[in-house]
Amino acid sequence: MTSVPMLEDEPGRLAALQRLEILDTEAEEPFEHIVSLVRSVLNVPIAAVSLVDSDRQWFKARAGLEARETPRDLSFCSHAIKETQPFLIEDALNDDRFAGNALVIGDPQIRSYAGVPLRTPEGYNVGALCAIDQQPRHFTETEVTMLKNLARIVETELELRRIAERDVLTSALTRRAFAERALVEIDRFHRYSRPSTLVLADLDHFKAVNDTYGHAAGDCVLREVARLVTDLKRDADVMGRLGGEEFAVLLPETDVDAAHVAVERFRKKLEDHPISLPGDQVVKVTASFGIAEMEPAISSVEEWLAAADQPLYAAKRLGRNRSEIASGTFPQPPMLPIKKPISAKAGLRELCERKPERRDR
Ligand code: GH3
Ligand code: MG
Ligand code: MG
Repeated sequence: MTSVPMLEDEPGRLAALQRLEILDTEAEEPFEHIVSLVRSVLNVPIAAVSLVDSDRQWFKARAGLEARETPRDLSFCSHAIKETQPFLIEDALNDDRFAGNALVIGDPQIRSYAGVPLRTPEGYNVGALCAIDQQPRHFTETEVTMLKNLARIVETELELRRIAERDVLTSALTRRAFAERALVEIDRFHRYSRPSTLVLADLDHFKAVNDTYGHAAGDCVLREVARLVTDLKRDADVMGRLGGEEFAVLLPETDVDAAHVAVERFRKKLEDHPISLPGDQVVKVTASFGIAEMEPAISSVEEWLAAADQPLYAAKRLGRNRSEIASGTFPQPPMLPIKKPISAKAGLRELCERKPERRDR
């Protein structure tokens, strides 16, 4: 990747990191492989793919390290991202910038460091691939070259991961990728009690659009609706296409009332929005919405989707082009028969592999 890194543009860099939608996600094999390769090829006890967020570095993959993240001001990688070349420290105790660093004088007792910036295609250094030793050492030219090559592979993986998660027609997250983000929100809620709201949207009488104007026109409408959501949502909100003409949006740090206001604003915008179709035709569409705030009784993505699906169903029944809010405690699954406890992760797998249900609304 040859573009010039935007080393001075910190807001742009953080936005590029956000766009990767990778922070706080589960471990993924390609990154795990690469850190274990770094460890064996460079013969170091510690290696990591570090992403430098506004006030922390978060490890997408790590080997030989306990912590999942560290404060940014202690991070060696936050120095590496300011460079165009590998950042090398042969002995941290002989370097004024690091001699008093808690990660040097305490665990994991960093003495030497080699970090290669991880650059996005736009040119932002979002993190670094690093090799760390607990003794002073010189990294040879061959070792640094290998680390650079492995960093290029990490960059490619970051990009492939981003593309694979997107629905080709609308660029919304796929059902699977969306479910992964929702699971992160559920974890965050149970750990920090931060509010979060899920919105489901289903286009009204969309079959009639296809029947009247043709399937290609229907595709145009889906693309335009997704574009409109992208335009109106906040950066932190996450949009997915769950299937057909059903979309979902996650609104982190948003309670149900604020989400309702946002949904109503979008609903009204959509009903007045002429969508151009091939052949100079124009169509307007409406959608129905179900809104469910995350709550303690919800522990899986499936349960959260079910909680939002109920008010969506009500919105359809009550005449469409409207939004409804979940009534409170989400519908508990029947108590019997309980076959086997199911983990949130297994629930997610099951959810993603299940075929979408057909249901008349
Ligand atoms: P309701 O208001 O009850 O939601 O009615 P509806 O017609 O929107 O719902 P229904 O589930 O009967 O029809 C959904 C339609 O969406 C049928 C299907 O052909 C169409 N559809 C699903 N995926 C796509 C797609 O990728 N492109 C196009 N053009 N149409 C799609
Ligand atoms: Mg529909
Ligand atoms: Mg539908």
